[in-house]
Amino acid sequence: MTIYADNAATTKTSKKAIEAMLPYFDKIYGNPSSLHTVGQEAKEALTEARERIAKCLGAETNEIYFTSGGSEADNQAIVSAAVNGAKKDKKHIISTKFEHHAVLHTLKKLQKQGYEVTYLDVHENGIVTANEVKAAIKPETCLVTIMYANNEIGTIQPIAEIGKVCREAGVPFHTDAVQAVGHLHIDVKEQNIDMLSLSAHKFHGPKGVGALYVKKGIILSNIIEGGAQERGKRAGTENIPEIMGMAAALEDAIADLDKNSAYVKGLRDKLIEGLSKIPHAKINGDLEKRLPGNVNICFEGIEGESLLLLLDAHGICASSGSACTSGSLDPSHVLLSLGLPHEVAHGSLRLSLCEENTEEEIDVILEKVPEVVNYLRNMSPVWEDLESGKKAHII
Ligand SMILES: *Cc1c(COP(=O)(O)O)cnc(C)c1O
Repeated sequence: MTIYADNAATTKTSKKAIEAMLPYFDKIYGNPSSLHTVGQEAKEALTEARERIAKCLGAETNEIYFTSGGSEADNQAIVSAAVNGAKKDKKHIISTKFEHHAVLHTLKKLQKQGYEVTYLDVHENGIVTANEVKAAIKPETCLVTIMYANNEIGTIQPIAEIGKVCREAGVPFHTDAVQAVGHLHIDVKEQNIDMLSLSAHKFHGPKGVGALYVKKGIILSNIIEGGAQERGKRAGTENIPEIMGMAAALEDAIADLDKNSAYVKGLRDKLIEGLSKIPHAKINGDLEKRLPGNVNICFEGIEGESLLLLLDAHGICASSGSACTSGSLDPSHVLLSLGLPHEVAHGSLRLSLCEENTEEEIDVILEKVPEVVNYLRNMSPVWEDLESGKKAHII
């Protein structure tokens, strides 16, 4: 039996999404830029998908731009705001220390080009406040970019309040909502969001497709040059099958959002309660302002990677943090941003659930994790030092 508890890394593509995609491979296969009937059929589908996705976010149809995923949407939003800012001699950007690398690495690149970036500290509970954003805004600020929900610890930021502060100061506000879309209720107008990134594969849509919402009036810069697709802002023949799959998956996720969310929260809270009983363990991130499916916990005295491999041997698929950093020896920048010491951050485990997980699976996880943690601790010289009192326990 395989227990898939890594839905923050990616989700299984739903049957509905796959079915929605299939006709666009060999039946309605035209190029939407072609003027003939076959092309125009594809164009109609594209327009319809754009309308459906816009509706799910409370946006206007022409405020949605399709991209190759969340990373591209983040890149384009941030670079566009930077270019717009430079025209007015505004080259200051505000973000946080615990963003996804698609945001952090784009910001690093801009810093090399002379932009100043303020990386806000994150509180121990994994939240940044609107007041802290307000205090950081300067006359030269051209962008605030803060993630909606964190991909490692699942904490949800006060997006509407941050949006309000930015709107009042006249500063564009972008949010990487890749973990939030399809999982939380979002309305870009009510929440004062100017730009928002999403990615289909995080809500049971296909991989390699996403979208950027851009409020009317904000000028986008191209990341990909070429043809005039996406109103000249993103070249390349549109990935119609996946765009149709994304629209179907998003509508499906939103239709069942409250029901799924209540169910998944139940599983999450059972996991958190059970895992909290393991001695010298610490749950990371706020327990309330948290994605329905996210559990993130640190165990003192062990390495997250060894824990993952042993859990995998028991059929449990989990993560030590972000999939993009696994393979590197540095602990997660997200956990370090919460103020956790390196040695604690190294022993992290992320379990991310979805509505397909079952109570029985949670029971298996609750049986196996303590077993594996004990096994690893018994072999660990670090744990021996902690238990003998040679070194003090941190958690
Ligand atoms: C997955 C993820 C991304 C990247 O999205 P892709 O579609 O895989 O490029 C960006 N930000 C967050 C918060 C994510 O979880």
